[in-house]
Amino acid sequence: MYDVVVAGGGNAALCAAIEARRRGATVLLLERTTREWRGGNSKYTRNLRCADPATYPDEEFLADLAGVTGQDLDRDLAALVIERSRELPAWMEAQGVRWQPALRGTLQLDRTNRFFLGGGKALVNTYYATAERLGVDVRYGFAVTGLRLDRGRCDAVLLDGGETVPARAVVVASGGYEANLAWLAEHWGEGAWNYRVRGSRWNDGALLRHLLDQGAQSRGNPRGFHAIAVDARSPQFDGGIVTRVDAVPFGIVVNRDAVRFADEGADLWPRRYASWGGLIALQPGQIAHCLFDGRVAGRFIPSVYPPVRAGTIAELAAALGLDAARLARTVAEYNRAVALAELCEMRSPAPVQEPAECDSLKRLIRRGESVEVRPRNHGCLSK
Ligand SMILES: Cc1cc2nc3c(=O)[nH]c(=O)nc-3n(C[C@H](O)[C@H](O)[C@H](O)COP(=O)(O)OP(=O)(O)OC[C@H]3O[C@@H](n4cnc5c(N)ncnc54)[C@H](O)[C@@H]3O)c2cc1C
Repeated sequence: MYDVVVAGGGNAALCAAIEARRRGATVLLLERTTREWRGGNSKYTRNLRCADPATYPDEEFLADLAGVTGQDLDRDLAALVIERSRELPAWMEAQGVRWQPALRGTLQLDRTNRFFLGGGKALVNTYYATAERLGVDVRYGFAVTGLRLDRGRCDAVLLDGGETVPARAVVVASGGYEANLAWLAEHWGEGAWNYRVRGSRWNDGALLRHLLDQGAQSRGNPRGFHAIAVDARSPQFDGGIVTRVDAVPFGIVVNRDAVRFADEGADLWPRRYASWGGLIALQPGQIAHCLFDGRVAGRFIPSVYPPVRAGTIAELAAALGLDAARLARTVAEYNRAVALAELCEMRSPAPVQEPAECDSLKRLIRRGESVEVRPRNHGCLSK
């Protein structure tokens, strides 16, 4: 009998297996999928955020978390995560993980985040190699379907082939239910069937459901998901990190009615990008289009799919199947607002100093009269 059986084969499972083995336990790790697909969502990651007294103090980390989660922040859990995150780099290095400089681009994370050399796939491969070197038994193609409970204590795991594996202790690290669209639809409505899940298709939450059915307590907010804007041309599952749309803060985002629905520049992109999936999920058809001027191409990491290009807003509308008149109005309103903001915030080369002057400009703009302004920078979409 194994001392510890670990269900799952991603970051959480591997860290648990390695640590248990280093403390002298015999360990079996059961990964549901094949060796080639092992590593769950962890294989798609690139970096982790950790507190560092010199560069990223606990208070700032907490403020960043509060900034994205708002009232829903679980302060006890956040404090634990932040405190223990300081130990992570040294522990990871001891398992063979190496670091690389932060990527440049829209997400400026070099002060707050550590990038592992070679990305998540290399991280996972390193952990598997370390685990196996230490003597962890790894089996692929074994899905854990349940736990056998004896008077509140788990003494075995049940496999989908009907087999039972006894264990002194069990670690469930089989991911969430990100790839289970029916379960997502329970919280997000029928629109969930339109989602593109860039993570692992194997995370269907079956074991999680089993635990909840057994009376396990749930924690967290099921609608508070970390969801990014994914290129709609991606495969249904496993598109990975290259499908992310990073152009948002450099342009405007419109829904299928050619209407903007959120402030593209509300905050710095590293604190904002994980909100856009949720914002798009609330739009009709769960689809949106990010429009940017050709002049800003190259300032962000592009999606793996090339952008649709057009010489005018009308041509772009035709290419995207949007209402041309409505899109033209949306772009014009946005450009006017940017120009006005520039003038009123006195950032223009010829600043408008008087509030009264600003108000009269606003009136003109509301009436649709032309105002001659010299847009200063990237804020406007041309044509
Ligand atoms: C594209 C992408 C990029 C990301 N980038 C980052 C990043 O840069 N930094 C960051 O901190 N986070 C990132 N995340 C989030 C991060 O991937 C997850 O928080 C993390 O991987 C969770 O680790 P885990 O071990 O709990 O789950 P996973 O890594 O998803 O592992 C779950 C494992 O369980 C296995 N499994 C599932 N069901 C069963 C079963 N019934 N029996 C046995 N095994 C089973 C799966 O095959 C898989 O191996 C990203 C996520 C995605 C999708």
